[in-house]
Amino acid sequence: MPPPQEESAKFGRILLKLSGEALMGDLDYGADPDRIQAIASQVKLVAERGVEVAVVVGGGNIYRGLAGAAAGMDRATGDYMGMLATVLNALALQDALEKAGAVTRTLSAITISEVAEPYIRRRAIRHLERGRVVIFAAGTGNPFFTTDTAAALRALEIRAEVILMAKNGVEGVYTADPRKDDSAEFISTISHREAIERQLQVMDSTALSLCMDNDLPIHVFNMDDEANIDRIVCGERVGTVVSTDG
Ligand code: UDP
Repeated sequence: MPPPQEESAKFGRILLKLSGEALMGDLDYGADPDRIQAIASQVKLVAERGVEVAVVVGGGNIYRGLAGAAAGMDRATGDYMGMLATVLNALALQDALEKAGAVTRTLSAITISEVAEPYIRRRAIRHLERGRVVIFAAGTGNPFFTTDTAAALRALEIRAEVILMAKNGVEGVYTADPRKDDSAEFISTISHREAIERQLQVMDSTALSLCMDNDLPIHVFNMDDEANIDRIVCGERVGTVVSTDG
């Protein structure tokens, strides 16, 4: 089958944020190989459309610094453990992508030269220009941040046109958590500012502020159907769009 037409893609360069939860499938902990493979196939499909794809992976399916801190651990130490958890996910995703036939590079914000390249902005852009799927591991490399902030930061650094923010079990942004509140209403478009003021579950406030200040749109969508990635890339109206105009 010939590869899909390039013209059908709406974006030239995207950043996909996958939380650790997105890789978990039905498991309670860790990463589900079938789930990762399904995501990898979709990412490859999008890359075949000529779209340059960067991915930031979370680590919450394995470890969160806050959980360590709650159990009495030094917060920064816990956060470094969380960053290492994102590296495990990045390697699992890289493996699945390469099995699917994509060319990939993992760039880590923490130096672990045996397993991943160091994060160098210009190198990341070069990989993208050459059609490689770039996976950003270890978040921002700093404790007290999240991989949401890493997604916003890296998207700006590589000049991605949009962040695709994957959620699990919900279609996008709601007035309240639809899993807890029956009266929660779906919001199809909203401005960054309003999302921050209303404390809606888009991404954490540091990340959202960064997107707002730099006019970076975010598409929030349901990752239970991983084909949504391709739909958004092709311009279909899926999930919630967070933008400057709202
Ligand atoms: N983390 C960090 N700095 C970063 C990114 C992540 O310290 O720039 C740590 C933090 O402890 C966090 C953990 O890594 O809890 C896993 O990342 P995150 O919670 O963002 O993963 P997700 O919720 O997306 O699965």
